[in-house]
Amino acid sequence: MVEDLAIVIVDDMQYSRTVLRTTLNRIGYTDIRMAASASESLAMLSDRRAEVVLADWVMPEMNGLELTAAIRVKDEERDHYTAIILFTGKEGDEPMMEAFSHGVDDYLTKPVKQVQLAARVFAAGRIARLQNTVLETSSALTAANRQLEYLSTTDPLTGLPNRRALNKRLEAALLETQARNGGLCVGLLDLDHFKQINDTYGHDVGDEVLTTLSKRLRLALRPMDMVARLGGEEFALVMHFHDVGHCDPSIFLRVLDTIRREAFPTSEGPIPVTASIGACCYRHGEDMATIQGLLKSADQNLYKAKAQGRNRVVG
Ligand code: GH3
Ligand code: MG
Ligand code: MG
Repeated sequence: MVEDLAIVIVDDMQYSRTVLRTTLNRIGYTDIRMAASASESLAMLSDRRAEVVLADWVMPEMNGLELTAAIRVKDEERDHYTAIILFTGKEGDEPMMEAFSHGVDDYLTKPVKQVQLAARVFAAGRIARLQNTVLETSSALTAANRQLEYLSTTDPLTGLPNRRALNKRLEAALLETQARNGGLCVGLLDLDHFKQINDTYGHDVGDEVLTTLSKRLRLALRPMDMVARLGGEEFALVMHFHDVGHCDPSIFLRVLDTIRREAFPTSEGPIPVTASIGACCYRHGEDMATIQGLLKSADQNLYKAKAQGRNRVVG
């Protein structure tokens, strides 16, 4: 018994189609569809894929080589592989080479003996299955890689980019500012007395505050700005300005306002929250800055903001 294959026969001669199907049935194949033209076979393949297509080379309208090209395009769109065997009355090496150079998998001259057909269809089926296994594996790997990339650059609690993503993004933003124009402002934000919130209401409520904070920060900035969670209750804000004049640490005052304006709603009731921001700006034309340098200077300013009594921006 052969393993069944999804087969499509394409031939403009009804007699040839029937003979071929009868032979394939005798070999043991049952899933056989027949098309009287290339375009009919393409419609069939759109309806349901095939593993092996047996097509006549010479057909009116679209010939076997053109059909092969059309199937390859369709296959590429669907991440599928169809093994194609062409039939012809043409003898010799030249037609065979022409067929292979057009992406045909195999080539048979008419009339075809049953034993030969059995061997070729079996081999073509194996090629299709192997290719399709490779395609499935590689698309599963692509999806897994995408998921890994997402997980490795995203903070699970807030869904914000994490420190790793920040570094990447900051590097690109800094290069762009150095090469073109404008300015870049980096703010490191740390919640004030957050430990107290955890200690008073519990860690879960602390998490609620962090989640709400991430939403408020996102809303307080422009879509092209970046908010990242660096860890704990520390966040980074990155803003780029085309106009150097707008590049000033005081822009972060607005962010502090959106935090302290309204108490944070939590399952334990509203909790008032404030934060401190240490900022550092780089303007086009200044001495070359590095990400580490920018972050270090912003961190020192954050330390100063805490020391000066919190709930403020130092830059
Ligand atoms: P300061 O004003 O000086 O920043 O005081 P603080 O209490 O905010 O600073 P501290 O660094 O002492 O406390 C930060 C706390 O954040 C300690 C830690 O338990 C808490 N924390 C860190 N990560 C998380 C988290 O994912 N969820 C919650 N709920 N708490 C966290
Ligand atoms: Mg804190
Ligand atoms: Mg902290």
